[in-house]
Amino acid sequence: MFKMSKNWYPVVNYDKCIGCMACIKKCKRRVYQLGLDNKPKVVNPDNCVEGCHGCGNSCPTNAITYFGDNSDKKTINSCGGCSSMDNKNNLNMEIFEPAMCCDTGLCGVSINPELLRISTVLNTLKKNGVVVKRFNLSSAPMKFVNNKVVNDFINNNGVEKLPVILLNGKIVISGRYPTNEEIIKLLNLPKNLIDKKPSCNCKSDSCDCNGGCC
Ligand code: SF4
Ligand code: SF4
Repeated sequence: MFKMSKNWYPVVNYDKCIGCMACIKKCKRRVYQLGLDNKPKVVNPDNCVEGCHGCGNSCPTNAITYFGDNSDKKTINSCGGCSSMDNKNNLNMEIFEPAMCCDTGLCGVSINPELLRISTVLNTLKKNGVVVKRFNLSSAPMKFVNNKVVNDFINNNGVEKLPVILLNGKIVISGRYPTNEEIIKLLNLPKNLIDKKPSCNCKSDSCDCNGGCC
């Protein structure tokens, strides 16, 4: 039993969309079609399921919002498979990145798979209430100047050794991004958090998520 909705459907921000197609792959209800510009088009909004955030949760650049979503509560637990948590363990991770074209480094023509991975992982964490801050040298240079640990690191090693990963103010990784496993370990998170289905607030009796987000 599906609750089709004229009151709820995805809206794509094409300034943020990088055309990765994750939303099209995610939606089993054919709400999207690939446009001639290789970007997703919402062609069947009435097929969208009210409360579902499946495609939005899959989007690495947060390009999808929902018409009809007034709650702004994207991590409400109403599916059996959803979960929400915060940085209760007081572990604070920050990523200081080299100069990039935009906040995620994903706006260029060719997509760096490592940047896509880290953006997707950080989005998943954020949707589960775990915030990892990231700063890049071109858009937030003062963050690098004002952080003594990062400033010293750059003075000693050069900007070419970025990114640098801080945990509670101390450098734990440099010269590369942390693996998914390292992020889980460093932040003391459940092992399956990154790979499990993302959080949503759809009602399990109104879509086909079966408690795990559609
Ligand atoms: S994945 Fe869910 S929210 Fe996205 S278009 Fe499909 S039904 Fe709608
Ligand atoms: S998942 Fe997001 S970035 Fe990827 S194609 Fe869809 S809207 Fe664009």
